Amino acid sequence: MTIKRLCTRVTCQKPAVATLTYVYADSMAVLGPLSLKAEPHSYDLCTDHADRLSAPNGWSVLRISGPDGDDHEDEAPVPERSKGTLFGL
Ligand SMILES: [Zn+2]
Repeated sequence: MTIKRLCTRVTCQKPAVATLTYVYADSMAVLGPLSLKAEPHSYDLCTDHADRLSAPNGWSVLRISGPDGDDHEDEAPVPERSKGTLFGL
């Protein structure tokens, strides 16, 4: 099942990839993977708007990357399996 939703920013028609939720109690804007269903206090954002997101004055932004996010910058390269063991028979 694939969810198709669009960026909620006015004039933006790009597919949403992230969901922004405002946690008013903590003055925090939480940007995470696209939520399964639309919540009243959440906003779906496309890649561009998610990247350019800035919190209002006095608010902080918490970015949560999804399990299959596009940015693998922090991932260490998978070491190649040591050669030779398979051919030793
Ligand atoms: Zn957008």
